[in-house]
Amino acid sequence: MAIILDGKSTSKQIEAQLALRVQNLRSIREHPPVLATILVGADPASATYVRMKGEACRRIGMESLPVHLDTETTTEQLLAEIQRLNEHPDVHGILLQHPVPAHIDERACFDAIDARKDVDGVGCLGFGRMSMGLDAYGSATPQGIMHLLAAYDLALSGLHAVVVGRSPILGKPMAMMLLAADCTVTICHSRTQNLPKILRDADLVVGAVGKPRFIQADWIRDQAIVVDAGYHPGGIGDIDLDPLKNRVRAYTPVPGGVGPMTIATLMLQAVMAAERSLQQGRIQD
Ligand code: NAP
Repeated sequence: MAIILDGKSTSKQIEAQLALRVQNLRSIREHPPVLATILVGADPASATYVRMKGEACRRIGMESLPVHLDTETTTEQLLAEIQRLNEHPDVHGILLQHPVPAHIDERACFDAIDARKDVDGVGCLGFGRMSMGLDAYGSATPQGIMHLLAAYDLALSGLHAVVVGRSPILGKPMAMMLLAADCTVTICHSRTQNLPKILRDADLVVGAVGKPRFIQADWIRDQAIVVDAGYHPGGIGDIDLDPLKNRVRAYTPVPGGVGPMTIATLMLQAVMAAERSLQQGRIQD
């Protein structure tokens, strides 16, 4: 039987530990740790994700500071808002919900977030540092996947990992994290030729394509580890998971796999940022 990589229960365990860390922080510092969440526009899925992140803050005793900007917000206005939050002494982490409306320069805004507050791991500086094996907050979804694989003690060294998707906050950082874990990594994208052949050689598959059930079950070999980062209405992922459940080594369910780990990782990194800011304050005192 395949191991079910249960992101729901693993994230609950992480949250229970974080609640204790937040309690400790609150016993030392007057103000609770704060995660600012910026939502631009009225996309219902984005609004749901931001709400879920606010609820996760409350579950672990953190505060969220929701910032909702209208669809017409310009890049300059969003940059000014990010700057305000960068300078706000009581804000420890900043989340800018992706995607922002198309007229905004999302990359410029991600990169404007102070690296010490970039707890969602979206900035170029953090990506570069993570890729070089230096201390950085990893992009929350791939970092959450790494935490999930670690929670099940899956040995990754030497595996051939195939990541399908190369987006800046998912596929690309995922590939670098698996490389750091000593996998041999292949990155596939929309121009890749003969994807089924490449996937049949994979010990570990990460589906990050954004197309429902795009990756077919017969492209994946027996005993592979299967991670499905996709999420579509009706609880469908990027991989046709059902036929795989009895012949792979491990798989992430959809829902309840990668999604909860993304939020738990954001919370973990926000708590780390709050702890570091406290230490920094002590050094300066
Ligand atoms: P994205 O920015 O749209 O990127 C999709 C990637 O898939 C691109 O690199 C694209 O290649 C590649 N692709 C598209 N068609 C392909 C094809 N026919 N063959 C091979 N590759 C193809 O999406 P994303 O933000 O990375 O998200 C991917 C999925 O993860 C989505 O289902 C999204 O909902 C999900 N997601 C989940 C979470 C979570 O917390 N659970 C978080 C973020 C995203 P090109 O670069 O060549 O265009």
